Amino acid sequence: MTQRIWNFSAGPAVLPESVLEEARDNLLSLGSTGIGILEHSHRGKAFVAVYEETEALVRKVGGVPDNYRVLFLQGGASTQFFQIPMNFLSQDRTADYLVTGSWSEKAEEEARRFGQTYISCSSSDRNYSYIPATCTFSPNPAYAHYTSNNTIFGTQWPGLPPVPKEIDLICDASSDIFSRPIDVARHAMIYAGAQKNLGPSGVTLVIIRDDLIEKGPKNIPTMLQYRTHAKNDSMYNTPPTFAIYLVGLVLKWIERDGGLSGIAERNQRKAAKLYSFLDQSKLFKPTADANSRSLMNVTFVTGNADLDAKVCSAASKAGFDGLKGHRSVGGMRASIYNAFPEAGVDALVEFLKNFEAANPSA
Ligand code: PMP
Repeated sequence: MTQRIWNFSAGPAVLPESVLEEARDNLLSLGSTGIGILEHSHRGKAFVAVYEETEALVRKVGGVPDNYRVLFLQGGASTQFFQIPMNFLSQDRTADYLVTGSWSEKAEEEARRFGQTYISCSSSDRNYSYIPATCTFSPNPAYAHYTSNNTIFGTQWPGLPPVPKEIDLICDASSDIFSRPIDVARHAMIYAGAQKNLGPSGVTLVIIRDDLIEKGPKNIPTMLQYRTHAKNDSMYNTPPTFAIYLVGLVLKWIERDGGLSGIAERNQRKAAKLYSFLDQSKLFKPTADANSRSLMNVTFVTGNADLDAKVCSAASKAGFDGLKGHRSVGGMRASIYNAFPEAGVDALVEFLKNFEAANPSA
């Protein structure tokens, strides 16, 4: 087999090797069924068992209270950007958006199609390099929406945003879902595309409080009503069976590794190694303010675009993939989600150290 390399992709991203191996073993036959995981009917006993186990694992690993439903939807987090306001925002109401990056911007833009939005806070004045300290809210908003981790800009809410308890809080957790403990009960809804921390692309995890499900109008397309998926255990239509299966395997891997607190500890340690190198470096500097730094996406620059390009090309020759920063920040971005091994972070720090030593006058 070709040697696997250090994959810093922002998503789809690296998956645990043991998960890939188990999936490979079940491609031809899921357990002793004689039918591969990709080939099982979603209505058959074997897949229903996989589904039920995965749903139970989301509840157990995430500490999801009984009054929440777990849904596995399609269309990515981008579909949630409009499905949420389509269900919960009407022309006569306002929804509040905490805008901390391009993904929250996109979510807010979609909401404007359905009603009024109010920008509770924004860090656009400094290219989204920080998490705002204060927010304001409109009177009686339908909900407040935030993005817990800003994949492109390398910032993350260190904890819950300062949203009053009486406002229904909705979180786009696409790039830090289950990377640390999360207070589900404080949210009305949490959603995330699986392809960074939970599995492959193709499935969006939605954790939604019971009372919201029936709030949505009934005259919108059936597939876009949350009640449709809640009533049918996410099987109103054919669900992304393989993606759900893989999420289940990843959740078992998280459980084996100490659950969310174990994963959080490891994620802290990985990010700290990288940031402490960058903080003492004379060549590289992190782009995010120190108190807003993401543990998932570490963004950094040399301050010289040509040199950044040289770093990326040398890194790629040395077996590090996906380090080029997003065009709106430039420089480098190391995405080190749950499954990214600590040894890969050590290897990157070593590489950057050597690069700096070889380019002293840069
Ligand atoms: N929100 C965040 C925070 C993201 O990082 C992304 C994708 N990178 C999205 C939303 C969009 O997700 P999808 O591609 O699943 O629609």
